[in-house]
Amino acid sequence: MATPATTTLVIASGNAGKVREFAHLLADLPLQIRQQPEGLEVEETGSTFAENARLKATAVALATGCWALADDSGLAVEALGGAPGVHSARYAATDPERIERLLRELTAATSSERSAHFSAALAVADPSGAIVLEVEGHCPGLILEAPRGNGGFGYDPVFYVPETGLTFAEMDKATKGRIGHRGRAFALLEPELRQLLGAG
Ligand code: IMP
Repeated sequence: MATPATTTLVIASGNAGKVREFAHLLADLPLQIRQQPEGLEVEETGSTFAENARLKATAVALATGCWALADDSGLAVEALGGAPGVHSARYAATDPERIERLLRELTAATSSERSAHFSAALAVADPSGAIVLEVEGHCPGLILEAPRGNGGFGYDPVFYVPETGLTFAEMDKATKGRIGHRGRAFALLEPELRQLLGAG
């Protein structure tokens, strides 16, 4: 019996943890997952998460000659005009300092002004660099006045999701995976990717 063709999909990230997470999510698809080549740095110059995901997917597809999947994510706070947004990772030097800065900027904000959402954009480029799939997942919530919980990373301890009564840092992995921005983006991507690969 002929073995079905396997497509190589390069995850546009130098972060081994992120590559493992995607490999796990994509395990049911006929794909060979690879990490992007070492030393390849793509500047995130876009003004939206979607633009940055597209830039990274195209650059990695062109550099490798393979299909590429890229993501970009971050936190947007209403009272701060959408900040830190695409600058989420660069808002301060460390996770605790990023949280401290966020809480400082929101000192005068009332509870109704603390609305925020996480977004995750995913983009897939074909080997020519053309974007063939794009999705975006969102998770709405509120920024607390003080951190709660020990799990997760980044802004998780101050991001409260009313429907669960928990911060991201208080949720188990499965719950964050189900209601979080990346999980929601992936749930949108998976059926489209399956169709694209003819693996429906
Ligand atoms: P990137 O998409 O890996 O570039 O992540 C951008 C930044 O957004 C991260 O460094 C975090 O500061 C923040 N971020 C993205 N997703 C999450 C999350 O699920 N929890 C907390 N912070 C996040």
